[in-house]
Amino acid sequence: MNDHKKRVVILGGGTAGWITANLMATHWKDKGFDITLVESPDIGIIGVGEGSTPPLKGFMDVIGVKESEWMPECNATYKVGITFKDWSTKPGFTEYVHPFLAQPDQFTAPAFFHNSFLRRKGVDLEGHPDHFFLATEMIRQKLAPVTPENFPFEIAYGYHFDSGLLGKFLARVAEKKGVKYKSATVTDVLLDTQGNIDCLKTAEGETLKADLYVDSSGFRGQLIQQALKVPFQSCAESLFNDSAVVFATEQEESYAPHTISTALKYGWAWKIPLTNRNGNGYVYSSRFVDDDKAETEFRQHLGLLDSDVEARRLKFKVGRVEQHWAKNCLAVGLSQGFIEPLEATALDMVQETVTRFIEAYNNGNYTDKYRKEFNDRISGRFDAVRDYIVCHYRITSRSDSDYWIANGSNEKISPSLRAILMSWMAGKNITDELLDQKLDVYFPNVSWNCLLTGKGIYPPQEQLRPGNELANKYKMEDIHEFIRRCALNFKSHQEQLQLLRQ
Ligand SMILES: Cc1cc2nc3c(=O)[nH]c(=O)nc-3n(C[C@H](O)[C@H](O)[C@H](O)COP(=O)(O)OP(=O)(O)OC[C@H]3O[C@@H](n4cnc5c(N)ncnc54)[C@H](O)[C@@H]3O)c2cc1C
Repeated sequence: MNDHKKRVVILGGGTAGWITANLMATHWKDKGFDITLVESPDIGIIGVGEGSTPPLKGFMDVIGVKESEWMPECNATYKVGITFKDWSTKPGFTEYVHPFLAQPDQFTAPAFFHNSFLRRKGVDLEGHPDHFFLATEMIRQKLAPVTPENFPFEIAYGYHFDSGLLGKFLARVAEKKGVKYKSATVTDVLLDTQGNIDCLKTAEGETLKADLYVDSSGFRGQLIQQALKVPFQSCAESLFNDSAVVFATEQEESYAPHTISTALKYGWAWKIPLTNRNGNGYVYSSRFVDDDKAETEFRQHLGLLDSDVEARRLKFKVGRVEQHWAKNCLAVGLSQGFIEPLEATALDMVQETVTRFIEAYNNGNYTDKYRKEFNDRISGRFDAVRDYIVCHYRITSRSDSDYWIANGSNEKISPSLRAILMSWMAGKNITDELLDQKLDVYFPNVSWNCLLTGKGIYPPQEQLRPGNELANKYKMEDIHEFIRRCALNFKSHQEQLQLLRQ
């Protein structure tokens, strides 16, 4: 490492800023880094983002935080998948679960692939993904995904949490790791003659200088987009949603470990169970519906038309910056991009960006030697997530509004997604195509197959023919029995959450 102490300034104290601070402070512990996080007392955090994917567990492990320490404090619950409702009108396929995978699934997944492949070829076999994965059964029975010692299998799971409380919790952990905190609003960003960031000026009259600047300033992208002028590649042509209306509702007596995503007329609504409330939001496109009408539809959906519960409205832009690491600045979080919240991938992108950056920066002996590889890798991940999410909309069979008709007939999809869909429609195995298109870097083959089969992208029932003995080689009752018995190993969701509080 170079001789002088490296100074890092992180601009922004949202979840992205605090995840960054924790990862840097952990990985660069004893390496002589001086890390300061600056947060405006006047500009708030976005305050949504309450669902995660499984890697968040890895993040907590890396920074040394136990579930019993953070989950009760953030009203967190477990999540083993997302239930999609009403995205498809196909009989038998109006609902399905996108499961997080569990090790025992390796015994049932071959049956899923076999059956669904032959059903696409016209054989009448059970091809709905909900029959084949342990996560779906855990949702059905409201079980927590924590394995007892005598069931030694890995179960991937994520979480739901209060994002404001999580930010506060992570701030305390980071400060214990030596991260300094400054409450100040950055008003000016000065560049040097090489175009690097030279310093930040604050409204409070301070000058902040660093070797490395992290832009976690949210959608404004104050450093990466405004100061360094890194272009933003919008994906609004393929993802129409740009607005959300959000409010909380009372928690029910018991709740399953899943996010529910229900398609409405101009978008979709999430329901996220926390221990003290449900988080709800309607994500829609302002091109097709105005804010008032969307809020009315959402209230109606929740049975709250006459309630005075206050709603919060948000606007967002979808896409990503062309470079996540430019000059001496790393963009993390909403400043680097956002691919709408359908699969709750944003925090995972934060974690991946920072982890890969640290790796690249270390490997290059704290220089920008591996900047291009890093940028290509992170952009590839964004684009793979984008394609998976666009696919949800493109294959819809809904036609009850201009919004769904426009989505279902949208030709402005990427060549990579087009290749996957053509391969699927031609009845091919899409595994190789996913590899060729580098689309399995985020969502694996099984997720793509759940998405397409779960929405019923099969020949119509009346065209299916009975299968012979070979086609029927997997007995559904054996699969159900195997999953039922695996599920016997888990405690109820509520009971497990209660244990964390003791
Ligand atoms: C509708 C919606 C739903 C979402 N759902 C999910 C989900 O389920 N799962 C998920 O993973 N993600 C989700 N996200 C994304 C998630 O909310 C964000 O990725 C996450 O909250 C991180 O945000 P951030 O820290 O980048 O930005 P913000 O929370 O906006 O924080 C920005 C920070 O920068 C500071 N700041 C800005 N300008 C200045 C300045 N000039 N000087 C000083 N400080 C400044 C602010 O004070 C603030 O602290 C969702 C997003 C939206 C819009």
